[in-house]
Amino acid sequence: MPVVSPPIEDGALAISDGIIRAVGPWRELRNEWPGTIDDLGEGIVMPGLVNGHCHLDYTDLAGELAPPREFTDWIKSILAARSSWGFSEYAGSWLKGADQLRRHGITSVANIESTPEILAHVRAATVLRVFSFLELTGIRSVRPSGELVGDALRIAEGLEMIGRGAIGLSPHAPYSTRSDLVERVAREARQEGLRVTMHVAESLAEFDMFAFRRGPMFDWLKSQRPMEDCGLGSPVVHLDRYGLLDANLLAVHGNYLWRDDARLLASRGVSMAHCPQSHAYFRHQRFPYRELLESGVNVCLGTDSLASTRAAPGKRPQLSLFDELHAFQMVEPNVPPKELLRLVTVNAARALGWRGRAGQLTPGAWADLAVLQEKSSGRRAEEVVVTHRGEVAATMVGGDWVWQPS
Ligand SMILES: [Zn+2]
Repeated sequence: MPVVSPPIEDGALAISDGIIRAVGPWRELRNEWPGTIDDLGEGIVMPGLVNGHCHLDYTDLAGELAPPREFTDWIKSILAARSSWGFSEYAGSWLKGADQLRRHGITSVANIESTPEILAHVRAATVLRVFSFLELTGIRSVRPSGELVGDALRIAEGLEMIGRGAIGLSPHAPYSTRSDLVERVAREARQEGLRVTMHVAESLAEFDMFAFRRGPMFDWLKSQRPMEDCGLGSPVVHLDRYGLLDANLLAVHGNYLWRDDARLLASRGVSMAHCPQSHAYFRHQRFPYRELLESGVNVCLGTDSLASTRAAPGKRPQLSLFDELHAFQMVEPNVPPKELLRLVTVNAARALGWRGRAGQLTPGAWADLAVLQEKSSGRRAEEVVVTHRGEVAATMVGGDWVWQPS
């Protein structure tokens, strides 16, 4: 299933040096491409999935935090839960998350890195393509934003050669950053050619803080952060004022938009990651999927962290885009399977600047695959994929099998 073109019955891929060289019917490829043959039997071969938003280091908080009444209460409880963690807890949790991604056919992930000290270790230890976005907050920090960004750029440089994937910057959210930091990140990221991701308009509390200078988040933060940038418009308008909205930005959540926000995001070329299970956990208002799509925003899906994923009775939640697709379909039952599939493949790849390399099976793309051992039995292949549950039969990254249950 190439995703960007119709499924190929009895299809084959030619792979060398970790790159897909040809895609087509087996009867055509077998004569043109000599070499070792891997017969995968009956099933669906598709591109490895691309996760648009994740916090791998929160994996061990799965099911630990009950859904809060107020979004701000959740932030306080996660800060408390992590306060006793050290290097080994963070690194162990991160790697456990990466293992779950691999088992669920996810080969690329946009990950928010709140603990840069573990990165050299964990990036070297994973087989996945991790786009590590270094988190910046610092509302209480007395250090100037230039220094905070400078630190992040130095860390980014040191990590460049470690592991697959890339490094970017993530100012945490409009409410948890000062506006001078947002401005600085926008400028330096553009200069350095780094991609940026940020939580944007996630909660009503955040929206009320920026649009109306009121609500629980405004009250909580007014003694911790300058508030002159509030009362001037929505969180999206706030970020545009400081120059962050451009094609380099992957915004996350976007649950609470004001009048022209969707059109503004589209005109700036911003991509948006939606995290259906996390969205349901916080009981946000309906995600404006149609509005964003019709405005021309590139939308993809992410798992977010397991700290904001509700556990089914007797089960620990897992990082799986199949589960996210299920949650999404509960709210948006009329989205066709072909469109759903794009949310976790090509759209997410485009959001990371990996268009043509990840999320599709075409010559020149990375040989990143997920294999489902399921028969279509009359159903269309796309439908089989978007209703799949559980682990995949095999995962390949860069031409190497990285997951095959025994
Ligand atoms: Zn997040």
